[in-house]
Amino acid sequence: MTKYIFVTGGVVSSLGKGLTSASIGMLLEQRGLRVRMQKLDPYINVDPGTMSPYQHGEVYVLDDGSETDLDLGHYERFTHSPLSRDSNYTTGQIYQSVINKERRGEFLGKTVQVIPHITNEIKSCIRKLADDDVDVVITEIGGTVGDIESQPFLEAIRQFSLDAGKRNCLYIHLTLVPYLKAAGELKTKPTQHSVGQLRQIGIQPDILICRTERSLPRDDREKIALFCNVPIEAVIEERDKDFSIYEVPLSLVENKLDDLIVDSLQLQAEPLELDHWRELVHNLRNPEHEISIAVVGKYAEHRDAYKSIYEALDHAGIAHHTQIRIQRIQSESIEQEGPERLLSGSDAILVPGGFGERGIEGKVEAIRFARERGIPFLGICLGLHCAAIEFARNVVGLAGAHSTEFNKDTPHPIICLLDEQKSITDKGGTMRLGAQPAHLASESRSATAYGREVISERHRHRYEFNNVYRQQFAANGVVFAGTSPDASLVEILEIEGHPWFVAVQFHPEFKSKPTSPHPLIAGFVRAALERHQSRGAATQHV
Ligand code: GLN
Repeated sequence: MTKYIFVTGGVVSSLGKGLTSASIGMLLEQRGLRVRMQKLDPYINVDPGTMSPYQHGEVYVLDDGSETDLDLGHYERFTHSPLSRDSNYTTGQIYQSVINKERRGEFLGKTVQVIPHITNEIKSCIRKLADDDVDVVITEIGGTVGDIESQPFLEAIRQFSLDAGKRNCLYIHLTLVPYLKAAGELKTKPTQHSVGQLRQIGIQPDILICRTERSLPRDDREKIALFCNVPIEAVIEERDKDFSIYEVPLSLVENKLDDLIVDSLQLQAEPLELDHWRELVHNLRNPEHEISIAVVGKYAEHRDAYKSIYEALDHAGIAHHTQIRIQRIQSESIEQEGPERLLSGSDAILVPGGFGERGIEGKVEAIRFARERGIPFLGICLGLHCAAIEFARNVVGLAGAHSTEFNKDTPHPIICLLDEQKSITDKGGTMRLGAQPAHLASESRSATAYGREVISERHRHRYEFNNVYRQQFAANGVVFAGTSPDASLVEILEIEGHPWFVAVQFHPEFKSKPTSPHPLIAGFVRAALERHQSRGAATQHV
């Protein structure tokens, strides 16, 4: 029988509910349990696909093509829970579904209301993940207790235990215990208020996870326990981790969170097996090398816009015992200052995906710099588009070559709209999305990195390489290392004779895990390390 864990957050946003939920999922899996992860987002957008990265950070794409919240990236990196459309619902989707049912007459003339119609819809979305082969469903509620948008979701999870049985549900509340410098002490009052608000709507949390920057003394834990009506063992400290997010599960285990959950839900669990995770954190903490990789993007200054790329680079770094210093470079600043000053210290250059014209020329210049100087380069999606534009203009000699996304009247449309996109006008969920197979050219760098010739990778784009130019590109040294199975779409291009120049139409970063880095990103990091070491040797000779 499936059991349910609900994770809510209070006091402030950005407390790391996603990471905490992912860590809980990982710990339960490491105790032999079968887990499913889910996030419910109270905002009204149908999905984050149309939201600005400044507002929402990265859009995380799943195999089935759903465009989801970036917390789902944490779920995939920490657990094996299969994710799908059912793993992320927003208020927009919930209302859309209820309104469609109303239009079809399914409510038989009743007045349609938040309670019970919206809350029933939310509960049915949670229940969709339960199955005979699922021990625990972990549902994270986005936002903060007290937000107007969160109310129907909190009400739905309150009702949930009436249907599923109190013993089968566990409510975990993540809160902040701030340290007040002026008073020289940790403050528990915000936690008391936040739990007070939850209790007002009928939810008594079973476990409190307290984010703190300092160790939480027993006195404070006792106080929180008493005022919030939980046993003291259920007040769990989660100290800020300035080192790595992959340490979070280890600190939760120190506070016996896994035992507490297993006992409370009466789960049949095995002893905890964390050796490989401890080894991973050990490797991360004790690198043998250090390299720097420039990520040249439009949203470089935004911490979350390229989240999965930064994580995937770290995963590849762990595999190569290498700490990666990421230089976040605004592509526009390359237009102003030139690539030499900003990029000559980098061991490798990565151009991520993106939309819109701002900063395009800076990316093209950065790629020219990488190509001409033999600096390892990885282009992702828009990064492939910019690499093709650069090659067309500067190697093939096609002046004014561009993508029709940015210049409809270019004399050389190297990148153009996918045929299936030409008649589409809606913005939401209409790109070429999700997992698509590709065939790799044997002996290409990519085929060697993957160790196989058929792959599946996740996509999110409208534009593609224009096949009219394939011949000219190939004649000038481009290898079309990956294509769709019918060879009609270019998925990977490489440049012959360059130490590592690989551009991909898909997003490898979504399939990288700390325990198994993505082959192309691992190959890119290895090339960066080799360059770093050969540069070091060259300086020593001088
Ligand atoms: N804007 C480009 C397109 O739509 C690239 C998208 C991306 O980088 N994800 O095709």
